[in-house]
Amino acid sequence: MTVLSVRNLETFYGAIMALRGVSIDVKQGEIVTILGANGAGKTTLMKTIAGLMEPEKGSIEFNGNSISGHEPDRVVAEGVVLVPEGREVFPYLTIEENLRLGAHTRRDNYAEDLELVYSYFPILKERRKQSAGYLSGGQQQMLAIGRGLMARPALMMLDEPSLGLSPLLTQEIFDIISRLNAEQQVTMLLVEQNAHIALATAHTGYVLEMGRIVMGGSTEKLRASDDIQEFYLGRS
Ligand code: ATP
Repeated sequence: MTVLSVRNLETFYGAIMALRGVSIDVKQGEIVTILGANGAGKTTLMKTIAGLMEPEKGSIEFNGNSISGHEPDRVVAEGVVLVPEGREVFPYLTIEENLRLGAHTRRDNYAEDLELVYSYFPILKERRKQSAGYLSGGQQQMLAIGRGLMARPALMMLDEPSLGLSPLLTQEIFDIISRLNAEQQVTMLLVEQNAHIALATAHTGYVLEMGRIVMGGSTEKLRASDDIQEFYLGRS
């Protein structure tokens, strides 16, 4: 079942057309990755879906309902959460305060979700009373994902979860992303510069170049493509 359906999306920064008619589908339970060079429009795509930017044209449907043009908080309440890169946590708030902010659109009790986040990221529980600014880069990334989970998302969009992390920490974060997908049924849209790990983790993917989708399909198919091998996996 398709949960997210984006059609012919066009988004501008002033006169600059960052998305030039983007269409993607995300099915329930999938991890879908978007590959693309710097400036291809990956962040713009996620920001537009999250309601942080308004598209000029096109449609965004989540579970069959249009979410295009909805306020960011409303998109979160509808189940779609953007996890920005880890450096965007609130450094002067404690870890637990950061996590509680992730639940601010919810009216129900989220104590259980706090425990759920701590079960995936025990280090955050150990350090829960400390300011987030003192966390390492990897721990801040964990906190950003944990904060996203607190909204109990049906679809989590992750922007560059490996940014600035060592290969070991990157692997650790991606293992948790896979577990959250398998164990908590969180569908994922993943933007990632590291095409090796993105293609190993995701089920399907798209390639975005200069605001346009130029390729899409299963990650097996993408990995077999000569262009992907040459331009994204560094083999010739
Ligand atoms: P990166 O990996 O570098 O973040 P990206 O694929 O996420 O790249 P976007 O950040 O979405 O790319 O940018 C898409 C295009 O929009 C680029 O050409 C970029 O220069 C332009 N752009 C992005 N942000 C702005 C802005 N605030 N004002 C003007 N142009 C912008």
